[in-house]
Amino acid sequence: MELVTTKRFNTPNSHKLDTYLADGGYGAARKALTTMTPAQVMEEVKKSNLRGLGGAGFPAGMKWGFIPQNNPKPKYLVVNGDEGEPGTFKDKYILEKDPHALLEGIILCCYAVGIHKAYVYIRGEYIQQIRILQGAIEEANQRGFLGKGIMGTGFDLEVVVHRGAGAYICGEESALLESLEGKKGYPRLKPPFPAVVGLFGCPTVINNVETLACVPHVIAKGGEWYAKLGCERNGGNRIFCVSGHVNKPGIYELPLGIPLREMIEQHAGGIRNGNQLKAVIPGGISSAILTAAEVDVKMDFDSLKAAGTMGGSGGVIVMDDTTCMVWTALVAARFFAHESCGQCSPCREGSGWIYRILRRIYHGEGREQDLKNLPGIVGNVGGNTICAFGDAVTMSVGSYVQKFRSEFEYHIREKKCDVKRENYAQTNH
Ligand code: SF4
Repeated sequence: MELVTTKRFNTPNSHKLDTYLADGGYGAARKALTTMTPAQVMEEVKKSNLRGLGGAGFPAGMKWGFIPQNNPKPKYLVVNGDEGEPGTFKDKYILEKDPHALLEGIILCCYAVGIHKAYVYIRGEYIQQIRILQGAIEEANQRGFLGKGIMGTGFDLEVVVHRGAGAYICGEESALLESLEGKKGYPRLKPPFPAVVGLFGCPTVINNVETLACVPHVIAKGGEWYAKLGCERNGGNRIFCVSGHVNKPGIYELPLGIPLREMIEQHAGGIRNGNQLKAVIPGGISSAILTAAEVDVKMDFDSLKAAGTMGGSGGVIVMDDTTCMVWTALVAARFFAHESCGQCSPCREGSGWIYRILRRIYHGEGREQDLKNLPGIVGNVGGNTICAFGDAVTMSVGSYVQKFRSEFEYHIREKKCDVKRENYAQTNH
């Protein structure tokens, strides 16, 4: 299998400009700026079937095409490097190991869309990654790959790094824009979508770090080549972040469409200690959980959607049979209750209510009525809110209760857990 996005990760000094240039770096940008029109660059990205790899999986080329070209206002690119989804740590590696690939992807996107200023919004905890990216931007500015008339062409591009302050909801694109504008990170009602009214009220492309880091490969080798790496309508590879009860947790660049079972058993070394697989969260904590019987699903956006869950951020959290599903649901619910921005009543009140019910079930104080009420409360959050956070609460917590109902019943009836635990702390939830 051909590595694309991670191919330089193990090269010494992979973050330095000279290392990147020695491997053909900025060749795709030079090719695009000197031999291709912006429309040709966009067409190649459309052909590649490159999907948004931050969570939504929206086709990248189509998103770029939504930017109105007749609007006299400036246009912006905003790079989403907030990476707050639990179980997800791929953008961190790209920023740290291959920042120039991201910068080259930024150049290509901006050239295709006609943008001259890009902001990279990075979560505040990624201090080292922010420093590395800022160093890469300085190098690129000094050597003419960014700034005025880049690479001797007439194309200007400024890239600015903005450090987030730690709210999960700022990974939601419209909340991120609010935060970037210096306001509280509240998601906006849509429409209008950011392509028309985005940063400072101007047309804005918002793409994830990994998505943009794939673009130089698309332009260097062609959209058709890239599309063939993945599966139908899901071009290329993606970086999966595998964590939890596997023998070899870590990041794995694999083709979109690889079966989840193959990922766990062949790449991540199988389940630890000879235990049995119990469940998998396939796309960050916002996605619906899959049972062990469902892991033959293919790991592309469309197959996961058909299976009732989502590809999301690529955060694959594997759980073995020592995991209590009531506890797991409680951990997820606590996270959602803590991170709800509070704008919408169903999300603000519902997430806290769900957390309190799960907490008492887990601690042996649950009532029979709790399990009757829970699906209704969980179901009424999603679809009734400003942003998709409410849908995530419904999808995530709802799936635990639906697929592992007998464990919730046992906790209520016997006032204890029937799962033999191993190696994880009794956290105080
Ligand atoms: Fe905020 Fe939740 Fe409403 Fe999203 S759904 S805007 S996170 S309250």
